[in-house]
Amino acid sequence: MRFVDEYRDAAAARPWIEAIRALVTRPWAIMEVCGGQTHSIVRFGIDELLPPEIRLIHGPGCPVCVTPVELVDKAVAIASRPDVIFCSFGDMLRVPGSGSDLLEVKSRGGDVRIVYSPLDALKVAQDNPLRKVVFFAVGFETTAPANAMAVAEARRRGLSNFSVLVSHVLVPPALEAVLSSPQRQVDGLLAAGHVCAIMGTGEYEPIAKRHRVPIVVTAFEPLDLLQGIHMVIRQLEEGRHEVENQYDRLVRPEGNLPARELVREVFRVKDRAWRGIGVIPMSGLGLREAYAAFDAERVFDVEGVGGPESPHCRSGLVLQGIIRPRECPAFGTLCTPDNPLGATMVSNEGACAAYYRYRRHATD
Ligand code: SF4
Repeated sequence: MRFVDEYRDAAAARPWIEAIRALVTRPWAIMEVCGGQTHSIVRFGIDELLPPEIRLIHGPGCPVCVTPVELVDKAVAIASRPDVIFCSFGDMLRVPGSGSDLLEVKSRGGDVRIVYSPLDALKVAQDNPLRKVVFFAVGFETTAPANAMAVAEARRRGLSNFSVLVSHVLVPPALEAVLSSPQRQVDGLLAAGHVCAIMGTGEYEPIAKRHRVPIVVTAFEPLDLLQGIHMVIRQLEEGRHEVENQYDRLVRPEGNLPARELVREVFRVKDRAWRGIGVIPMSGLGLREAYAAFDAERVFDVEGVGGPESPHCRSGLVLQGIIRPRECPAFGTLCTPDNPLGATMVSNEGACAAYYRYRRHATD
């Protein structure tokens, strides 16, 4: 046992599949919000085990995928400067901008480094006082506290050579956009457990009521997902639209209060562009004025940098659950992990990457 095997036990999964079968009386579409859930579903074939009435739709919850192309272009512009050490999580390096990506900058001699935490980038700044160190602060509510901590700590230590390129997005406004869309196909939602471990579940209550949609907070392993799907279907069949928590071994209704407070101290909520989707009002975080000195967009004056996305990429439709990756004409031909046209093909949480890795030879 590795405290994961028990959540992947096929014998334990069977009764859940039977229980779901016994509940379903009509077709339902359930969106899993998070790309981590998508990968688990596709990898373990959970969608193929479910009764045909249940359709799983992949959602917008991949932070790398929704980072706007202009910000990738700004990252490329900043990382190309000889006085800069650019630090990022690894899966941002292959994400295509309008003309280049960070890996190409690195291959041309740019000092682009993969780090595993923003605090690692802070250490790079401390160790290199004559260079400017920039961290690409990408993510949902989950990573915002660590990035806020890095900025607050940089100010406390008086580090003037550290800044962050912020691309933080928030889940609830994205769900509002998906559920308000005239193309909405979603009956129920599986919400991402790690996001709720930080933000709690309160923000989902009005969304569930307003849109009459059950929302079940769920973890990422097969048994978690099956139990979450069962909870959503039970609500739908009973005509309920509530927020329920499958991931109660980690998620508390109030979330992580100190982490939320730190995020509020450093960031403010603002409008944010989502790659392939467009601007969603009040759906992102930016640094507060008190922390402007740590804002890489101001430090390097990259106003106006940024070109268009590939006209062939349909990732916006994939991220809203309107098409599946294999319905994109470029999937596996013009667009592969070696030659990606969109971020969803290279992100560890991207739906196109999941289908390419686990389903590209499937014939349906
Ligand atoms: S397969 Fe490639 S081009 Fe098509 S939506 Fe996915 S990332 Fe974009």
